[in-house]
Amino acid sequence: MPQKAIRDYIRTIPDFPKPGIRFRDVTTLLSDPAGLAMTIEQLADPYSDVGIDKVIGLEARGFILAGAVAHRLGAGFVPVRKAGKLPGAVISQSYSLEYGEATFELHEDAIEPGETVLIVDDLLATGGTAAAGAMLAERLGARIAACAFVVDLPDLGGHARLVQMGLTVQTLCA
Ligand code: 5GP
Repeated sequence: MPQKAIRDYIRTIPDFPKPGIRFRDVTTLLSDPAGLAMTIEQLADPYSDVGIDKVIGLEARGFILAGAVAHRLGAGFVPVRKAGKLPGAVISQSYSLEYGEATFELHEDAIEPGETVLIVDDLLATGGTAAAGAMLAERLGARIAACAFVVDLPDLGGHARLVQMGLTVQTLCA
């Protein structure tokens, strides 16, 4: 039997979180040992010789992936969190959601200037979330090796938006 591909583990839930949205549910990928192992390998291994210092996970599903990717690369893990969640001194970046705005924060001492980072999240849609994470990392002087995602929804423009910012984008499936 041929090996299952990553996209085969991901289910689509119609009308979540609201009518008309087709939500890509990665919990079925993460709960499968083979699916999880394949995902972490494919996210991490292109960067095994790059000298990644920190892997940045975007709240919340990005944390699950970024921690495992950081461990595989021998790097540290750094969370980018929604406003008010990090206990130390932070820098902040607002970004647009479909309706309204949100703010992401990063501990101001989480990255040293010149460190090489990899940004990880589960899914790339409009790119607003990842762009905010990338701007925070750049403000601390990080060199961003790439932004890596499990799922790309290219019709929503995020991939093109991040490339336009000069970022390298890696996705495992569409
Ligand atoms: P963007 O900012 O690129 O429009 O949205 C991406 C962010 O929203 C990611 O942090 C991602 O976790 C979340 N997101 C948006 N739509 C989906 C979806 O269908 N499935 C999952 N798993 N996450 C989504």
